[in-house]
Amino acid sequence: MAPTLDTARAELRRLFGFADFRGRQAEVVGRVLAGQSTLAVMPTGAGKSLTYQLPATMLEGTCVVVSPLIALMHDQLRSARANGIRAATLTSVDADWRETIEAFRGGALDLLYVAPERASQPGFADLLAGGRLSLFAVDEAHCVSEWGHDFRPDYRQLRPLMDRFPAVPRLALTATADAHTRADVLAQLGIPAEGLVVAGFDRPNIRYAIRPRESGARQIARLMAEQPGPGIVYAQTRRQVEQLAETLARETGREVRPYHAGLAPEVRAANQAAFVASEDMVICATIAFGMGIDKPDVRFVAHAGVPKSIEAYYQETGRAGRDGDPSVAVMLWGAGDFVTARQRVGELDEARQAGERARLDALAGLVETPGCRRAVLLRHFGEDPPATCGNCDNCLDPPKVVDATELARKLLSAAYRTGQSFGLGHLQKVLTGASDERVVQRGHDKLSVFGIVEGEEARLLPPLARALQARGALAATDHGGLMLAGDARAILTGEAEVAIVQPPEKGRARRRRGEAAPNPVGDPLFDALRELRRTLAAEAQVPPYVVFHDSVLRDMAARRPASLADLSGIPGVGEKKRAAYGEAFLKVIREN
Ligand code: ADP
Ligand code: ZN
Repeated sequence: MAPTLDTARAELRRLFGFADFRGRQAEVVGRVLAGQSTLAVMPTGAGKSLTYQLPATMLEGTCVVVSPLIALMHDQLRSARANGIRAATLTSVDADWRETIEAFRGGALDLLYVAPERASQPGFADLLAGGRLSLFAVDEAHCVSEWGHDFRPDYRQLRPLMDRFPAVPRLALTATADAHTRADVLAQLGIPAEGLVVAGFDRPNIRYAIRPRESGARQIARLMAEQPGPGIVYAQTRRQVEQLAETLARETGREVRPYHAGLAPEVRAANQAAFVASEDMVICATIAFGMGIDKPDVRFVAHAGVPKSIEAYYQETGRAGRDGDPSVAVMLWGAGDFVTARQRVGELDEARQAGERARLDALAGLVETPGCRRAVLLRHFGEDPPATCGNCDNCLDPPKVVDATELARKLLSAAYRTGQSFGLGHLQKVLTGASDERVVQRGHDKLSVFGIVEGEEARLLPPLARALQARGALAATDHGGLMLAGDARAILTGEAEVAIVQPPEKGRARRRRGEAAPNPVGDPLFDALRELRRTLAAEAQVPPYVVFHDSVLRDMAARRPASLADLSGIPGVGEKKRAAYGEAFLKVIREN
């Protein structure tokens, strides 16, 4: 008889030390235990791996896990083993092939991780036929679809492989799948449509904030001062990465390392490994960084410029706070980011332009909204979220919105009447009636738009120009001038309106302390527990979070458990870890 969900809950407590399932985990685990094939679409940090790891320990036979990256597999392997799960990997870098295969044949493995290249080799099915299988788990399942953004041809060979074992259920997992890709994944992997389980995209512990870029590096340095934990800073180019890493290290005194495709592979690998193992390092990187990194305690993700799309933004910011602790995502943007991006779209084939333009418009909408950022994000993914979330910049400190339609007409007219070849500085002079030499020389002081913007309104010209560039109503000429584009004409004729977010008054910069990391500062017991975690992690050659997550150490410091029995009451302390580390932690608690 198939094990029940109640048994699974008991095992969840014993093995992982978690009190209960989260979100849709119970539903997915229930289906797997009942032998039903499933596609689970869950956001990063929702706990996808548990949905196959737990059943794998309960069902007869081995669960074969297909995972696209070796680094990811080894990360999973460490965590699974730390919880006492019998797991192994079969990859090109493993030396213990023979032992692994023997263990599999002997029924001594809960989990067998393989890369898709391996899984698609003809001999592999025969190897599997020599043992007993409980489940096929296909991680990052969107790779099977050409619609997804990471198509991997080898994933197409999984279906024939799994078809050879028709009695073994399939569990596909992904965090990124639009409706189109989902349908394709179901078809490509032979999972019935009723097997689709989609969890919400919300990441409630991530606080989103999006601000105009002013001092760039200094803004990020301030964020780093408020967020002591590990962080990722994304920049556009290799050069920006190098410079930013240097400036941030100098200004904050924290360890900051660069990561981009131009670095020697061994330097890149060393920087990534150091980051994964660290409790407070910042990595400054191009978007090449992040795929296949499962670090749960990333406390902030900063974008020094706009990402490529809302999808990319969601994925990149999603690397923060996998452990569920409060985290922040801050994006700095400038009008120039959108101008460059729109120029690039103009250079694409005709067929792709409309789609790419729509992506940029959606991104501009997120950046420019005076409303809830989370609501914009979730609506973009087809959800119907509440109007406010209480955990983004705009919800916490609602900005003033002003109707700038009239002012926008003035600015667009000025651009038009001066021949669409001047930048914002010149247009500002003309509009505010500053008759400097260049203005007079060109006869721009004789234009009807000369001096028609006064007082307070003049302050709105820069944010307005930024907003118009973001939405594409103003575009840059080759010589840095501004010209009319997009819906500029509709604005001029009164068919389209322009509302902008009023910039904060000088001196009253909208600066709220970032969500303070919940780790206690200056608590000698917490520091001592961390010290012990570092030592144990170094001995076992794993990152500290594999020993225990921060939340476990926080609970220990607050509750001061006195016995192994007390320790089991702390979420995240499973049987295996309690046996391995319990006494050492209890000793530190007694002595501090
Ligand atoms: P995903 O693969 O979906 O991004 P992970 O499997 O890496 O997520 O899990 C994210 C984090 O959530 C891990 O640190 C894991 O230990 C934790 N987690 C998973 N399930 C639970 C649960 N039921 N209760 C508490 N924590 C959980
Ligand atoms: Zn909000």
